[in-house]
Amino acid sequence: MDCIFCRIIAGEAPGEIVYADELATAFRDIHPVGPTHILIVPNQHIASVEDLQAEDEPLVGHLFTVARQLAREQGIHEGGYRLIVNTGRNAGQAVFHLHLHLIGGQRMRFPMG
Ligand code: 5GP
Ligand code: ZN
Repeated sequence: MDCIFCRIIAGEAPGEIVYADELATAFRDIHPVGPTHILIVPNQHIASVEDLQAEDEPLVGHLFTVARQLAREQGIHEGGYRLIVNTGRNAGQAVFHLHLHLIGGQRMRFPMG
């Protein structure tokens, strides 16, 4: 399996890592759509929300905790930010390693659907 996000987590591919712990890693999106655009991913390869198991609930909660911490560090928590998890074809999921987009630093112009 050749997964670009697994390679970034392992340090085998370049990535601007802004946070890492035993469960999750966060790095800047290569094509940012806002002043802040960070991807928060589990270190374990999980392809999408569709592949989550009930026992992954603490891990998913942790991804949100990391997102909140990073929003504070980036200074976007007061203005507000958007968290997006694209899942599957209709959502346009391009990388099949679960990731939370943290986007902020601007007034969002685009509707969700
Ligand atoms: P998706 O559409 O799957 O939710 O979003 C995948 C995101 O990963 C996109 O925003 C894309 O710019 C980002 N991305 C794809 N390849 C790379 C890469 O090699 N490095 C980084 N940092 N981001 C990537
Ligand atoms: Zn992966």
